[in-house]
Amino acid sequence: MGKNNSSGANADVKEKAFRFIDGQKDEMMRLWEDLVNIDGGSKLVSGVNAVARRVKEEIERGGGSARLIEFDGAGSMVLGEFALGAGAPVLLSGHMDTVFNEPGETTRRPFTVKDDKVYGPGVLDMKGGVVAAVFAAHALKEAGFGKRAVKLLFAGDEEIAHANSDAAGVFTREAKGCAAAFNCESGFVDNAVVVGRKGTATFMAAVKGVAAHAGNEPKNGRSAILEMAHKIIDIQNLTNWDKEYTFNVGVIKGGTVANAVPPNCEIEVDIRYVDPSILPELKTLVEKTLSKTYIEGTTTELVRFTPGIPPMQTTDGVTRLFNLWDKTSQENGFGVARPIKTGGGADSAYTVMAGVPTICATGVKGGRNHSADEFAVAESLFERAKLLAATIIKLDGLSI
Ligand SMILES: [Zn+2]
Repeated sequence: MGKNNSSGANADVKEKAFRFIDGQKDEMMRLWEDLVNIDGGSKLVSGVNAVARRVKEEIERGGGSARLIEFDGAGSMVLGEFALGAGAPVLLSGHMDTVFNEPGETTRRPFTVKDDKVYGPGVLDMKGGVVAAVFAAHALKEAGFGKRAVKLLFAGDEEIAHANSDAAGVFTREAKGCAAAFNCESGFVDNAVVVGRKGTATFMAAVKGVAAHAGNEPKNGRSAILEMAHKIIDIQNLTNWDKEYTFNVGVIKGGTVANAVPPNCEIEVDIRYVDPSILPELKTLVEKTLSKTYIEGTTTELVRFTPGIPPMQTTDGVTRLFNLWDKTSQENGFGVARPIKTGGGADSAYTVMAGVPTICATGVKGGRNHSADEFAVAESLFERAKLLAATIIKLDGLSI
């Protein structure tokens, strides 16, 4: 088929997909409302599972196949597929859990449409993205798109970095061999798209000192807080702006009463980094720093060192996929996209590690996520479903 025929056929499929989405606006809003109105904090496992079942049903209603991947102690994942052709599949990913772990949150502030905005727990982060992804796939099927399968993969415990699941492993395995991946995380009102993310790690350290009465025998005490105070300064100073890693001592606990030399002190520390290979080096730095004793008679222990989500690297494939998204966005009147790098981890890291060009934050647009003021722009639900579909149609143009 000649180039013109092929682009003509693409335009035809796109028009049909857009028309389908325009005709499904009520259904899309209804699904969004259904998902937001289920309490689904990462720790409310049965709620997340209810969201997962609803998403699975919706994929099946659209003509795709879907199954749940279950874990002990974590919400299920949904793995869906619309088998639309023999080319390398494309992956639409995201998560179904929210940061709101208080039961009854959705009763107190349910899904609400006001003017052009939508409110409710997880409306932006990222139940809207789930709806946009499912309907983009459904629209491609209805439009007769026949080039490649569209896979859908949503986690149930992203907001707690998959602490009790193998979601990271599932993302890596299912992404392998895909032509591209779009992580439909919370989008930005200014059309920013995430092309790089820092990796995360945390650690906890504890100092044991010797308690003593602060008035009667202060010389016999060994202050755990004073020892830790020295170490906190050393740890903060490990931050290296050139090598792009930072240390933040974010939590400190210690002591018993004001008139006792404190026998205990604990800290929790957040680490952010850009180079995926540097993590072992950072752990060694921490161990070395903790091994230096300032106050004889105190002992220090690294209680835990926990790697979180690795960095999302800005590979050439990531840049090419961003360019295709930007071009498609402009061609369809959705505006100029802006590439940004952020400090927070997301599952897009795993799909990039699997060698798949990935862009992140392609879900509905809004702001204030992780707060009670979280909102999404209502119209962006349809816009993002269309832009996902239109970019997938043009993936042939992405030379990987
Ligand atoms: Zn999120």
